[in-house]
Amino acid sequence: MYLNEEGKIQLNKAMSILDSIISLEEVGFFSWDISRNTFEILEKITGFKHDKVTSLPEFIDTLVHPNDKEIARQDLKEFLDETVDSYQSTFRILDINHQEKWLFCKGISLKDNTLGAIIYDVTSNKFVTAHDYRTNLINGPYFMRKLNNSVQNALKNSYSGAVLYFEMDNLSSIINRYGFRFATDVINAFGQKIREVANFEDDIARLPHDRFVILRKQYQNLSEIESLSQEIIHLAKTPIQIEEKQIILNVSIGITTFPDTSTNVDELIRFCNFAMNHSQTIGSNTATFFDAALFTSYHRDMQIEIELPNAILNNELQVVFQPQYQILSKKIVGFEALIRWHNKNLGAVSPAEFIPIAEKRGYIISIGHWVIEQALATAQDWLEKDFDFGTISINISPVEFKQNNFKEQLVALCEIYAVPTSMVELEITEQSLMDRGQESKDIMRALIAAGFKIAIDDFGTGYSNLSSLIDFDFQTLKLDKSLIDNMNDVKYRYLMRYIIKSQAHMPYKIIAEGVETEETVSILKANGCHIIQGYYFSRPLAKGDAEGLLEKFKR
Ligand code: C2E
Ligand code: CA
Ligand code: CA
Repeated sequence: MYLNEEGKIQLNKAMSILDSIISLEEVGFFSWDISRNTFEILEKITGFKHDKVTSLPEFIDTLVHPNDKEIARQDLKEFLDETVDSYQSTFRILDINHQEKWLFCKGISLKDNTLGAIIYDVTSNKFVTAHDYRTNLINGPYFMRKLNNSVQNALKNSYSGAVLYFEMDNLSSIINRYGFRFATDVINAFGQKIREVANFEDDIARLPHDRFVILRKQYQNLSEIESLSQEIIHLAKTPIQIEEKQIILNVSIGITTFPDTSTNVDELIRFCNFAMNHSQTIGSNTATFFDAALFTSYHRDMQIEIELPNAILNNELQVVFQPQYQILSKKIVGFEALIRWHNKNLGAVSPAEFIPIAEKRGYIISIGHWVIEQALATAQDWLEKDFDFGTISINISPVEFKQNNFKEQLVALCEIYAVPTSMVELEITEQSLMDRGQESKDIMRALIAAGFKIAIDDFGTGYSNLSSLIDFDFQTLKLDKSLIDNMNDVKYRYLMRYIIKSQAHMPYKIIAEGVETEETVSILKANGCHIIQGYYFSRPLAKGDAEGLLEKFKR
C-alpha cells in the first residue's frame, strides 16, 4: 500500500490512539488467523505467554473457566456459522494468579480469514453483561442460556438435572428494621456463601427480586438434590454478621427437574416459582419439588388467574350472608358478608382458593371494593325494610387495609349508601395485623375514630397471643374454627376460658366461628362464649334467604 504524507500522518495518529487505548489496563485484543492457525493475544490479559496456543478454540479449552467453556464455544460457533454478524462473547478465565476475570470480547472478520477482537476486562466494572457484580454470581439472562444448554445436553445424553430456586422470606422485615442498604448487604453476603454448598460444576445465578437459582446439570438420584436443598436452608439459618449484627435468614425453595418436567426453560423457572410459592405457604425453611399433584394445582391456579379479572364484569360473583347469633338473648347480632364465585369453566371456586391469588395479582382491590358495595347496598336495603340485623361484617384483605386512602373511601361509600359507620364491622386477620405492627395500629385507630368496628379474624391460628393484641383497639374477637373444633380438648377449653376472662379488662365481644354441633354450643355456653356463627345456626345465605330469616326474627 502506498501512502502520501497526509495518509501517513493519519495512520500515525490512528496508531497512537489505538496504542493509548490498548495501554489501558482493562483493554486488550486478540487475533486469530484461521487459515494459518496462528493466535495472538496480549499477555497482560491472562498473564500467560500463550506461545503454544494456535487458535481461539484452543484458548477456550485451556484458559476459560470450566463453567463457561460451553457458552464460549457456542458463541464462537455462531460466529463461524455466520448466524451472527460480529463475534461477541462473555466468559470468565482463570489468570496466571488463579484469579477469576470476566472478559467481554467483541470482534469482526478481518481480511485474510482472520478474526480480530477487542477484549475488555469487566471484572471490576459495574456494567457487566453476564454477572452480578455484587455477588460475583452470574445473572439471569446468562443463566437462562446455560439452563437451555443443560436441558439440551440432558436430552441428548439421557440424564437428569435440577434447578433449585429460592428467595428469603424475612427480607422485608430486615428492610423494615435496618433499611434497604443493610438488607442488600445481607443478600450479597448470602449470595457469596452459596458457593460453599454447591458443587464446582453447579451454576449459581442471582435473579431480580433477590432470588437465587442453582443449576445442577446432572444428578444421580433425587436424594442428592434433597440434601442440597437442606444445605441451603442450613446455610440461611447460619447467622451472617453485618455491622456487628447477626442476621438469620428464612428461605423458601422450589425445585424442578429436567428434562422430565419440562424442556422449556421459561416453563422450568415458572414451575420453580410455583413450587417456591408453595413452600412459602407451608412455612419458611422448606423445599418443594414440582410434581404431578402440584402441576394440577398449578394449572387450576393459572386458570383462576385468567378467569378472575373478568369475574366482576361477567356477573359471576355473589355475596352471601352468614348470621351471627347471640345464644342468651336469642337475637341475631350481625351478618358476615362472604364472597362466592361461580365460573363456567371452573365451577364453584372457594374464596379460600381465589382470594390469595387475587391478592397476589392485585385484583383484590376491585373485588374487595365490589364486596363492600354489595354489603352496604344490602345494609341500606335492610335498614329501609326495618330489619334489626345488627352489624354487617366485611372481610378486609391486608392488601386493601394498607391502601393509602382506604378509610376515606369507606367513609365515602357509607355516606353514599346511607349506612352508619357504626353498623359496619371490618374483619382483619390476626396474622395481617402482626405482620405490620405499628402501621396497622395507626390504621385501626383511624378507622375506629371514623366509627367503624374492628374484628380480629381467625384468632388462634397465628403465633400471637392475646397480650400482643393489647395495643390494638378492636371490638370483636373471632375464635377460629380450628379452636372451636378442639373444644373437647381440655387445653383448648382452658385457653378459651383465659380469653374470656381477659374480657373483664378489655371489653370486646367474642364470636365462635364454625360452630357445627349442639355439643360445641353447650361447651361454649358453659365457658361463657355466647355468640356463635356456623352451620349449627345457619349456613351463609343468599340475600333473599337472609331476609326470610330476619322476617322470622322480627315476629
Ligand atoms: P373466614 O373469614 O374465616 O370465613 C369463615 C368461613 O367458614 C367461610 O368460608 C364460611 O362459609 C365457613 N363456615 C361458616 N360456618 C361454618 C361451619 O359451621 N362449618 C364449616 N366447615 N365452615 C363454616 P368461605 O366463605 O369459604 O370463606 C373462606 C375464607 O375466604 C374466609 O374465611 C375469608 O378469609 C375469605 N373471604 C371470604 N369472603 C371474602 C371477601 O369478601 N373478602 C376477603 N378479603 N376475603 C373473603
Ligand atoms: Ca371472616
Ligand atoms: Ca376463620
